[in-house]
Amino acid sequence: MLGGIDFGLMDPETYRDMSATKVITADTYDDDGYPIDMGLMDPRLGVIDPGLECRTCGSHSGSCNGHFGHIELAAPVIHVGFTKLIRRLLRSTCRECGRLALDDAQRDEFRDRYERAKELGDDEHDVLKAAVRQARKASTCPFCGEPQADIKHEKPTTYYEVQDVLSGDYSERIAAAMQPDEEEDDPGTSPQELADATDIALDRINEIMAGEFRPRKEDRRAIEKALDVDLTEEDMNKLMPSDIRDWFEDIPDEDLEVLGIDAEHSRPEWMILTVLPVPPVTTRPSITLDNGQRSEDDLTHKLVDIIRINQRFMENREAGAPQLIIEDLWELLQYHVTTFVDNEISGTPPARHRSGRPLKTLSQRLKGKEGRFRGSLSGKRVNFSARTVISPDPTLSLNEVGVPDRVAKEMTQTLNVTERNVEEARQYVRNGPEAHPGANYVRRPDGRRLKVTEKNCEELAEKVEADWEVNRHLVDGDIVIFNRQPSLHRMSIMAHEVVVMPYKTFRLNTVVCPPYNADFDGDEMNMHALQNEEARAEARVLMRVQEQILSPRFGGNIIGAIQDHISGTYLLTHSNPEFTETQALDLLRATRVDELPEADGVDDDGREFWTGRTLFSELLPDDLDLSFTSSAGDEVVIEGGQLIEGTIDEDAVGAFGGEVVDTLTKEYGETRARVFINEIASLAMRAIMNFGFSIGIDDESIPPEAEEQVDDAIESAYDRVQELIETYEAGELESLPGRGVDETLEMKIMQTLGKARDSAGEIADQHFGDDNPAVVMARSGARGSMLNLTQMAGSVGQQAVRGERINRGYEDRTLSHYRPNDLSSEAHGFVENSYRGGLTPQEFFFHAMGGREGLVDTAVRTSKSGYLQRRLINALSELEAQYDGTVRDTSGRIVQFEFGEDGTSPVKVSSGEEDGIDVEGIVDRVVDAEFASDEEKERFLGEREPPTNLSEHAGPGLNKAGGPGVESDD
Ligand SMILES: [Mg+2]
Ligand SMILES: [Zn+2]
Ligand SMILES: [Zn+2]
Repeated sequence: MLGGIDFGLMDPETYRDMSATKVITADTYDDDGYPIDMGLMDPRLGVIDPGLECRTCGSHSGSCNGHFGHIELAAPVIHVGFTKLIRRLLRSTCRECGRLALDDAQRDEFRDRYERAKELGDDEHDVLKAAVRQARKASTCPFCGEPQADIKHEKPTTYYEVQDVLSGDYSERIAAAMQPDEEEDDPGTSPQELADATDIALDRINEIMAGEFRPRKEDRRAIEKALDVDLTEEDMNKLMPSDIRDWFEDIPDEDLEVLGIDAEHSRPEWMILTVLPVPPVTTRPSITLDNGQRSEDDLTHKLVDIIRINQRFMENREAGAPQLIIEDLWELLQYHVTTFVDNEISGTPPARHRSGRPLKTLSQRLKGKEGRFRGSLSGKRVNFSARTVISPDPTLSLNEVGVPDRVAKEMTQTLNVTERNVEEARQYVRNGPEAHPGANYVRRPDGRRLKVTEKNCEELAEKVEADWEVNRHLVDGDIVIFNRQPSLHRMSIMAHEVVVMPYKTFRLNTVVCPPYNADFDGDEMNMHALQNEEARAEARVLMRVQEQILSPRFGGNIIGAIQDHISGTYLLTHSNPEFTETQALDLLRATRVDELPEADGVDDDGREFWTGRTLFSELLPDDLDLSFTSSAGDEVVIEGGQLIEGTIDEDAVGAFGGEVVDTLTKEYGETRARVFINEIASLAMRAIMNFGFSIGIDDESIPPEAEEQVDDAIESAYDRVQELIETYEAGELESLPGRGVDETLEMKIMQTLGKARDSAGEIADQHFGDDNPAVVMARSGARGSMLNLTQMAGSVGQQAVRGERINRGYEDRTLSHYRPNDLSSEAHGFVENSYRGGLTPQEFFFHAMGGREGLVDTAVRTSKSGYLQRRLINALSELEAQYDGTVRDTSGRIVQFEFGEDGTSPVKVSSGEEDGIDVEGIVDRVVDAEFASDEEKERFLGEREPPTNLSEHAGPGLNKAGGPGVESDD
């Protein structure tokens, strides 16, 4: 078993030992197309061409993984991956002796703290950072006394030593400071006074003033203090990589420990490269284009650049080129090595192809979504999956998904041929790959896989026998997995039964939109065809949509009627309209009901009629008893499967906890609930089509007298706000507890204006008819709210940014249209107009400010949820619920002793309300179904013994059982 993994740096000597060959030439292939010796494609680095033999291990391409080579760099360069650590080391160690600039006591203390942090599992980086901070403070080395310069890091790989040195014009600066300044009433300083103030001999002062003597540090400080003048300038000394390497070589091992570096594995000088490992050719294979030309990998291109510059550097140095040219070439070498490692360093222009495309180098292969980790290791492309746009289809069952025929022909299922299905199997093959339902491949018992083509399908079909396998197309009734990202809860992936359909989109019943959080504005979804019986069986038993009606998040149903379904049932049941026989049959045409119940009555023309509630009741089980309050606010009573009174709306049949759906699922099972949801959705659609349902701008208009009332309400609110402002300005406003006067004023204004909008809403509300479609939608919970209506017809109301009235903009005001410090409503974003009436330019501007906040929030939320999905997947990927009820990771370590800590499925738990599940009802139903006669039932149940051990908390349940029980106090 693996005990642990240590990461460390690699020694340049190890690079050389590992290397199969030194690479010295930038050329790759000779004229005959053979790899050049000691070139970038040297056959000792591995082979990619079939037929060639690896000169290191002797294997052929495919079995040889390749071998590293190396380049001897003409001069050391910095590895970009370590720039921060290099800076930290430079800042905390002595430039002269290399020791950490902490005295022994401090060093030991930090080492102990480091060890302790590691033991306790605290963040040891905090200790490291503190040690570096402390060491950086030292102005001189505690060991050799050398003054320490500050280190400036210019990204990515340049370091400077910064020191304050005596400036060249020190004498002029001193002279200027000694001059009398009449304006400031400064008599100036004489040389004698300066000498007295600084304790420097007068002769020396004179020499310094003449520029003949450079004062030493102590003298300089004294003069600076006496004259209040700065005599220094910054001196920047660039540290070449070779300087840094020499410096790091001096750092003793025991000091490294305090800096968090294990000297056994890593020496800091190894962060400065002197040898560059050359990755094997198998890492950077060249591609042969159609015209026979080779196209090399980006890494090879980069290595070519490195070798070329390396050679030029060596040549120039040997020829004794000037320092400036050498430094330029050095920087160029550094650039190429840097971009070889990472070509996306900020501040450095990326290395590009001639076409302008940036090269994809080492980091780019690993990082990000398409990188090795996220793209190739944690997740991969998967076979038998399809992705396309989704669109709605109310004729499908919620368990079904419409699959385009072209997808069905690509996603296959393996059919194991037996004596019993051999004819069926042959027919699939006979149809060929183009016709649906056909087959794409067959597998013979000997394992050979044959492609079915238009040409060979007839012939092949005759050969198919038992024991063959046929990869047939998806057909109606196959089970597939369907998914929409971000997959944030269990219901984001559910199993559906296939219905093959024409055209190019996946089709879903609209009732499954809430669990997937899907709409049809261009959303795409993924489908996976399952490839073995076990997977198909699991999907059918555990994952089917009907199995997911109850959400494990809140225990209520997440699948149910939405939007127009709700409006439809509302119209059908609210005022209980009457329908003729034709109409009634039409409403129920998409349900199992094929016979109308007894008519509710006879109309004036003598024709029988049925009410909406009666028709709705046809969809309910005959023994359902239920009562609750609807969204519209009336009491809903269902007795014996008949809707006696009340409105069926969001609270009855909606997704997110509709009473009827919830009860049906919990008490009658998922299948019954699925049937009900399908039927209520189609009944509702027929109903809404029967009545007709549309909305237009006129539906939001209110009569002129109502508009006047709204104006009055807002006007009086303005007056009240004005009063508040006046009280405030007079200093008479009393602040609310825990708040300042300003805050209090703001709160009171907000309250007043909030009330103004509410009353505008109430006035508007009074003037809307009950049959107003917007009102129907809001009351039934189908879509929108009365607030939306208020904003359309009455007043939009206060706009807010970060929960406050709008306060930003210009100095002391929001817009230049207002006077400074205007506290009035209109100057701080109260929109008095309605959307229908139209906004003034200022109102429009404030509204845009408020709206922007929401927009930004949404954008931030979506990007966060994507990241959340990734983190969830990573965190949970290896956890598994075992058959013993524990949750364990892949190595068998127990994460939870019982699933969810209590072993309870939230789906099976009542959603908190009392009597969430009618247990007795269920028992009665089950027992009734089980026994033919009352006698048998009694024999089974037996005589009930009165309970003897009564708790004082015994509830009414015990009373029912015949015991005395205790009444509760309230
Ligand atoms: Mg969408
Ligand atoms: Zn090899
Ligand atoms: Zn030192």
